[in-house]
Amino acid sequence: MYYVAKVDADKCAEYKCNTCTLYCPEANTLMFDKEGNTSWVDEDRCKGCALCVYVCTDMLDRNCITMEMAGQEG
Ligand code: SF4
Ligand code: SF4
Repeated sequence: MYYVAKVDADKCAEYKCNTCTLYCPEANTLMFDKEGNTSWVDEDRCKGCALCVYVCTDMLDRNCITMEMAGQEG
């Protein structure tokens, strides 16, 4: 059992921001989709450090990323 980051794409797309992707310590894990204007997480690579949650929620007060059980939908 482990947790991975999940981006609320609809919420994230409102900001056209891309900030969290600069902080993720894992390569090619938290990425930005320029067409959809949203960041997204490769669950298989995410280490669950929650740094991206800190950036989006605590630094920016946007609350678009949550930690969820791996494999869980939604
Ligand atoms: S910091 Fe938040 S709003 Fe900005 S790209 Fe990441 S998830 Fe989206
Ligand atoms: S939880 Fe850590 S490893 Fe996973 S996407 Fe966020 S910053 Fe990257």
